[in-house]
Amino acid sequence: MTVASPHADPGERDTAGPDGSPSGEARRRRTFAVISHPDAGKSTLTEALALHAEVISAAGAVHGKGGRKGVTSDWMDMERERGISVTSAVLQFAYRDHVINLLDTPGHGDFSEDTYRVLAAVDAAVMLLDAARGLEPQTLKLFDVCRARGVPVLTFVNKWDRPGREPLELVDEVEQRIGLRPMPITWPVGIAGDFHGLVERADGTMRRFTRAAHGASRAAEERLDADRAAAEEGVDWERATEELELLGEVGAAFDTPEAMAAFHDGTATPVMFGAALSNIGVARLLDALVELAPPPAPRPSATGDERPIDAPFSGLVFKVQASMDKSHRDRVAFVRICSGRFERGMVLTHDATGRPFATKYAQAMFGRDRSTIEEAFPGDIVGLVNATALRPGDTLWSEKPVTFPTIPSFAPEHFSVARVADASKTKQFRKGIEQLDSEGVIQVLSSDLRGDQAPVLAAVGPLQFEVVAARLADEFSAPIKLERLDYTLARRTDAAGADALRSAIGIEVLTRRADGELLALFPHKWRLQAVTQNQPDLTLEPLIAEG
Ligand code: GDP
Repeated sequence: MTVASPHADPGERDTAGPDGSPSGEARRRRTFAVISHPDAGKSTLTEALALHAEVISAAGAVHGKGGRKGVTSDWMDMERERGISVTSAVLQFAYRDHVINLLDTPGHGDFSEDTYRVLAAVDAAVMLLDAARGLEPQTLKLFDVCRARGVPVLTFVNKWDRPGREPLELVDEVEQRIGLRPMPITWPVGIAGDFHGLVERADGTMRRFTRAAHGASRAAEERLDADRAAAEEGVDWERATEELELLGEVGAAFDTPEAMAAFHDGTATPVMFGAALSNIGVARLLDALVELAPPPAPRPSATGDERPIDAPFSGLVFKVQASMDKSHRDRVAFVRICSGRFERGMVLTHDATGRPFATKYAQAMFGRDRSTIEEAFPGDIVGLVNATALRPGDTLWSEKPVTFPTIPSFAPEHFSVARVADASKTKQFRKGIEQLDSEGVIQVLSSDLRGDQAPVLAAVGPLQFEVVAARLADEFSAPIKLERLDYTLARRTDAAGADALRSAIGIEVLTRRADGELLALFPHKWRLQAVTQNQPDLTLEPLIAEG
């Protein structure tokens, strides 16, 4: 069997049963991430998605925010204390004969580098909007990352149970501000805050909801044909259908192969409405993922050719995480399977070093819970335990070599010197810094001048420093002192550039330990401008994703 083209008829994909081949299994996989501004409801939606698929018996089992108990998605203590997701978790569940892999991403902008790595491992993203707020700064930033990575985006307008904005206005904002053609597949009946249900655009039927008590279980759902909906919903129905007609006239329908192609190409976005907290519209979102989102496709290698899904095993390490749980003080590499069948115990090759890598301790990760995984297929995420040699961006393969492009590092904008607070802990400090560097928690820069004892930590956002300080203290018993530096800007340079800038005032050239790149740090853009004007031949290249 061949891999379904991303533009294949969704109905056809739906009927594909498992045949055990990597491509047959890949067709059943939907691997995606939810991206949103903090507080838009990402954790609530994650929980509702999992609840709907009946992996978790009661709402509240996924995360522990807002007084609900349980932890599956947000597991670090710091996350719970602060109520933000610092790291990413993976949830896998079955839905309608499909296997859904949901990768959680941190909502806070300071951890966008982690999100960026997660987006390298998914086939689609759900962009979650708060009905009252619409597009927010972090939504825009994350969307840019999706665009840069060619990740198709579905839009879910959340919190429709509360007063919010007009649906047409929200849809228009998506089009105007991010340039994605919105293609609503459901439309709300009743304004935000007085929400009765959703019209199914394709056939004009209505799903009417009775809100679940305290959002603790599923909202009851009733299906009405258009006539009955018109009779019972009166002006609200009229209004919804008028708005839909208006959308029809501007050509935003989602029932053609062209529309599907536009979604997969990243020029259009299916739009849905709902309320994650009451489980409204969540099943529809899952259906849309199954029917519309692309299954795993052959992944391009660094040399440009693609690794077919049925080729021998290959996978991309997109995240390395240590000490996810105090009872498991180890290091887990999260690998997105790109081709072939994974079987626990198989010996892979770590492409970066050419060394063999044994997978005896492969695990399925479910937030804090783990279970041994025996086999997995393209689109799935496998956690490899005690993977000390693996770094984000690394490729693992079996039988036939392949190298996937590495995941580029973000441009750091915050810089601090780290020093161990207690000199007797120097060894632990060094080890800890090395560990956090290889996990990609922060970028570590050094120079002969500064020496090993005082590396410069380079962050995309300042909260990363807090994570480093907390983890060095907790896991390595090496509390640190941080001294902020005045730099705000980094440029990639070369040996000649480093020489030329050696004596420049206010500028420093350091080596990034992870990849050996030389980074020139500037206090502000005017200083950089002055240098490029005076020495136009110097190599000073921008790094990706500057804020
Ligand atoms: P995150 O920061 O994006 O993960 O957001 P959370 O899932 O933690 O949600 C932020 C707040 O919004 C919490 O108080 C949720 O209970 C609330 N919330 C999430 N979804 C909904 C919804 O559909 N309706 C309402 N009214 N509140 C919601």
